[in-house]
Amino acid sequence: MSTTSAYKLDNFESFYNIIDNELVPTAKTRRAVDPSNEELLAEVPVSTQQDVDRAVAAAQAAFPSWRDLSQDERAVYLTTFVDAIDAHQQEFAQLLGKEAGKPPQGVGIELYLLSHQIHETLKFRLTEEQIEDTDERRIVQRYIPIGVGVGIVPWNFPMLLGIIKLVSALLTGNTFIWKPSPYSPYTALKLGELGAKIFPKGVFNVLSGDEDLGPLLTAHPGVAKISFTGSVATGKKVMQACASTLKRVTLELGGNDAAIVMPDADLAMTVPKVATMAYFHSGQVCFCIKRVYVHEAIYDAFIAAIVEFVKSLKSGGPSDAEAVLGPIQNSMQYAKLLELYSQVSKQDLKVAYGGEAASSQSGSGFYLPPTVIDNPPEDSKLVVEEQFGPIVPILKWSDEEDVIRRANASSMGLGGSVWSKDIVAAERLTRRLEAGTVWVNAHFEVGPQAAFGGHKNSGIGVESGLDGLKGWCNAQVVWIKK
Ligand code: NAD
Repeated sequence: MSTTSAYKLDNFESFYNIIDNELVPTAKTRRAVDPSNEELLAEVPVSTQQDVDRAVAAAQAAFPSWRDLSQDERAVYLTTFVDAIDAHQQEFAQLLGKEAGKPPQGVGIELYLLSHQIHETLKFRLTEEQIEDTDERRIVQRYIPIGVGVGIVPWNFPMLLGIIKLVSALLTGNTFIWKPSPYSPYTALKLGELGAKIFPKGVFNVLSGDEDLGPLLTAHPGVAKISFTGSVATGKKVMQACASTLKRVTLELGGNDAAIVMPDADLAMTVPKVATMAYFHSGQVCFCIKRVYVHEAIYDAFIAAIVEFVKSLKSGGPSDAEAVLGPIQNSMQYAKLLELYSQVSKQDLKVAYGGEAASSQSGSGFYLPPTVIDNPPEDSKLVVEEQFGPIVPILKWSDEEDVIRRANASSMGLGGSVWSKDIVAAERLTRRLEAGTVWVNAHFEVGPQAAFGGHKNSGIGVESGLDGLKGWCNAQVVWIKK
């Protein structure tokens, strides 16, 4: 392979499926919407069964020789790929800002995270694990790639979430088809185009489509593994569809994360961090804090401080360097949130800040006012369901047993945090939270070095870390008689 300058993409304006390293148009096309101004973006392919069959066949044909490379050899390809992405930082930043509605600060974070994810994951190697070595026999467990993997991705991190799947699948020797969300297909298609210049034919394919495409992939007998990130409702459909062919399935689903703020918490440190992790990307993050439980002794001071902090958060689109809060990413999620905001007056909830949300005048973008709700009832929709938007309930507690019960009273179990000066006591409390990732004095800190995944309805399996790589393999145990 030569230097990254050989991997220059000519343009970021036209978009094709990537199948077997070819740019493949489709008869039918569609356009996604820039959520900051509601303008139509460029045309993208709408894949059919034929496109799916072609991509699966290409990935199947590529599998044996890709599998037979060493992890080091595959890592060389992936290193070239991440270097080529880094060389196109500006173009990807612009495209990501437009398709996701992210202000530059949010775009920068996603691009940093994905580059970091690839670099750090490439340091891992799955090794054979010796289970027994006696005079009589040796037993070894090793990890074998599964075959053709499909990554199905949501719209909130259109690049990062697919990259986590791609790098793990490819490093472990699988071939891959990336299915982006119909709401944000652009960066994935360009990543595929870049990949087509770097990887052997058929190793990395990208298919864009409408809502019919996911089921075509989960039903396909040639696909061996589905790694899905998205909502709980769709995750259940994916698992059901995969059952008939016994595909391996990883599900990274929704969350309703609680943060528990203890009476001794340092408010000057805690409030900005909790607020940042609640309103980041306008709340459209699986790991955002969705419920904040604050001890009654500091409740009033906490509310006053979080209102001041939220007031300082500027809203704006992909060209606003000062903006922290972007628009809601799409009309479907926007409509769901408008309905949730309308519950505020219907249920007579107490608004500490924000609250009023009028439907967008055509062309003004899917913006919503960041909103703080003061101690709503525990059974209100805002507390029970994942809001996935910039409206956050602050809830009062007085009894430790009771607050743990309330934090765990969710069908979801993605993350949870405890905020306190007493780190030992806080860590003890985190052990009682029913969630895949728990933090003390932090939230949403995840990274390539450690696995993440959900308990309960928040998912099955994990991504990232060594265990994330193992999820892309079948275990094989060898018994050697001496
Ligand atoms: P979604 O479930 O509507 O869609 C996710 C993806 O699934 C899209 O690509 C969509 O086209 C595809 N899809 C839709 N129907 C399908 C079907 N029947 N079979 C196969 N694929 C199908 O989710 P969304 O609205 O795009 O994303 C928001 C949700 O994702 C939230 O619940 C959020 O918490 C969750 N999420 C979870 C994580 C995590 O790591 N746990 C990360 C980000 C987002």
